Amino acid sequence: MTPLTYLIGACRVHLISDGVHFADGGGVFGLVPRVLWEKIVQPDSLHRIPMELRSCVIETDEGPILVDTGHGAKLPEKRRQQLGLAEPPKLLDELAGLGYQPADIRFVINTHLHADHCGGNTMYNADGSLRPTFPNAAYFVQRLELADAAYPNERTRNTYFPENFLPLADAGRLRILSGDAQITPQVRVQVTPGHTRGHQVVVIESQGETAVFLGDAAGLAVYLERLAWTPAFDVEPLVSIETKRSLRDWAWRKKALLFFQHDLALPAGRIAPGEHENAHWRVTPVAAATSPINQEASP
Ligand SMILES: [Zn+2]
Repeated sequence: MTPLTYLIGACRVHLISDGVHFADGGGVFGLVPRVLWEKIVQPDSLHRIPMELRSCVIETDEGPILVDTGHGAKLPEKRRQQLGLAEPPKLLDELAGLGYQPADIRFVINTHLHADHCGGNTMYNADGSLRPTFPNAAYFVQRLELADAAYPNERTRNTYFPENFLPLADAGRLRILSGDAQITPQVRVQVTPGHTRGHQVVVIESQGETAVFLGDAAGLAVYLERLAWTPAFDVEPLVSIETKRSLRDWAWRKKALLFFQHDLALPAGRIAPGEHENAHWRVTPVAAATSPINQEASP
């Protein structure tokens, strides 16, 4: 995927990807019957749904901010096959395509610490030890998320892996947040519980324009259109619904551009209520600029 570039006021934002993994349809749609969800997305022969592993690069005066890091390069081959990861991880190549080397990244924000969002935080040295992939970056994560990741239970231990975050603490790169926080004048994080207790979205605000990278608060557009559609992966689904309700209403009031992390078909859009009383809310896709380098000059 070539980067998708958007301009939020004076702030340039790029969507890039680490690849596509496949998740069981039952996990992706929880209680929603397949006869309903297969009208929206077709599963493969193994009942799996492709999920984009999207990251976001925000250009700020303080330097580039990277939001989430995909699965990264540490997974054993067997696990890569289970996830249907056919291609090698490509996040670093896509960053290079934007002109950034890992050492250039100033901040990394993890929406949460599930493996498909922070696997690329760290990488192996030749001797098998681990180091931060982005050696000069401060990595931001919520305190509650870190606690849940550090002490997983039977349900969460297959996605919370200490090798994705403990080396950051050892290297002194971890910045632990206790709630909503302003990262730069244009970028802030907001705690949005439900998918995990310490999940956070990333809000970009510039010159009266607003965008939000939703992470797994609503990884697919349909999760925001239909509040009851929550993935079985959410640890607190009833909280997810209320989080989505307030995000949806806020985004409608603000006319905010929404970035959907796992949606293959709809990376970015705006939401509005349905036209009839019982019609559900709709996300309208918003196209990216043609050029990641010079959006203003594009026709
Ligand atoms: Zn995810």
